[in-house]
Parts: sequence; C-alpha cells; structure tokens
Amino acid sequence: MKRSGSATEDTMKIEVIGGYGGESLGCRMTCLLINDSIALDAGSLSQALTIERQVGVDWILLSHSHIDHTSSIPFFIENVFNRRQRTIDIYASMATTYAIRKYLLNNSTWPDFTRLPNNLLPAVRFHELQDERPLELDGVRFTPIPVDHPVPTHGFLIEQDGKAVLWSSDTGPTRRLWEIANGTPGLQAVCLDTSFDNSLQQIADVSFHLTPRTLERELEKLEPNIPVLLHHLKPPCVEQIRAEVRALRNPDLDFLEQGKVYRF
Ligand SMILES: [Zn+2]
Ligand SMILES: [Zn+2]
Repeated sequence: MKRSGSATEDTMKIEVIGGYGGESLGCRMTCLLINDSIALDAGSLSQALTIERQVGVDWILLSHSHIDHTSSIPFFIENVFNRRQRTIDIYASMATTYAIRKYLLNNSTWPDFTRLPNNLLPAVRFHELQDERPLELDGVRFTPIPVDHPVPTHGFLIEQDGKAVLWSSDTGPTRRLWEIANGTPGLQAVCLDTSFDNSLQQIADVSFHLTPRTLERELEKLEPNIPVLLHHLKPPCVEQIRAEVRALRNPDLDFLEQGKVYRF
C-alpha cells in the first residue's frame, strides 16, 4: 500500500509534531508524522499542521490510551471530516480502542465518529494491534512491541527500505524493546522516554517512566552505538533533564527536537 511520493526516494521522513509528555507554552504533546500520511500518536495532531496537511493523514497508530497521546483525535477528526473521501484508520490495542471509544468518542465528551456520518461509511475505523505482529502502511512496516507502563503500551519498530528506527514513548525499565533493538540489522536510531528529572525518581518509578538515572541503566542493554533521541519530557522538568543528560557525557544521546524533520 504505497501512496504518493511524499517522501524523497527510499527515505523515511519523520516529522516531530509534538515532542513532550505534557502541554505548556512551546511544548506540544506526543505526535510524530511519518511520510506525511501516518501519525504515530496524536497528542497534538491538530495543533501544528495546516488543515490541508491534516487532510493528508490517512492512518493513526497509537502507543496507548493516555491523553497526552490521544487528546487531539476529536479535533483532528472534526478538522478533516467532510474534506476526505476515505475513512481514517486508527490502529491501537484493544485496551486503547476501548478507552477512546468510552471516554473520548462517547457522544458525551465528543460525537461518536465511528458511527458518523453513518454506520456503513464512518469517519473513523479502529483496527486492533497485536504484540509483535507487523503491519504495513504506505510502504512502512510497523511492529508493535510491548513495553512497561501502567496501561497496555507499545513501542514500534519502524522499517522502510532496509532501514529501521525504534520508537518508544512511555515506559519504565523494559526488556523486549532492547532484544528487538539488538536483533535488528540496519537500526539507525532509538527514540526513548525521559519524562522526569532525577529528583522525581519515585514518581517516575510508580508511573513507569524514565529519568536520566534509569535511562543510563537502560542504555546498558543496547548493544549498537547508535543515536538515542530522548523525548516525552514533562514541561516543568525540561531544563533539569537536559542538564542531567549532558552530565552523563554519552555522545550517542540527544533530544528529539519538536518541529524538526528527520530522514532515515
Ligand atoms: Zn505520555
Ligand atoms: Zn502514558
């Protein structure tokens, strides 16, 4: 299912729409746009793209149900509804789909767009993601990998034309993600949660997130020396996290920059 030539030839284009684990001035919530047509999480899909570019998004993959990853779905649907011929296909775990249908698209907080304009041709359709079962969209292959967070959550191995990027958002210390990373030839980079600074270690532990301290331990599980791009920083912790990451003096570490377009 390869669509228009939105990416330059044989290059995977990843645009960081939202790079944070919370919302504040200049901080948008987690959302990537891949090859202009696939959104990976939807914390800010309606907030940084023109309506025309939003209309070009055909698929949304969701890591989990938390609102910093899903909150723009109602507004995105409203923006593109009536401007598209096609249904928007959302891929999510059964638990995530259940939560969105129950709490967001429930006819109380927002209309149920899985039944509008009618049951036969709805604006939105949900499809179930299953652990480690790959899915191909627009020539890009996504493999959902279970990670460790209070609700069922996936990271994704993202592959196109022999190149791969491993993206994980919310997780505490985890295992399977690193086995996949170490077993993937052509892995170009890993994107990883660093939500809290070290002074909030206890909060990070109980909410299953990483700090620079636990990040450093996680990186001992990664065999190849490749860039590790950190994201999902909580807005009040940004400056402290950056200082603590710099103090680790690991040349592979960098931050996934909101607004930047990466090509792999
Ligand atoms: Zn989150
Ligand atoms: Zn979360």
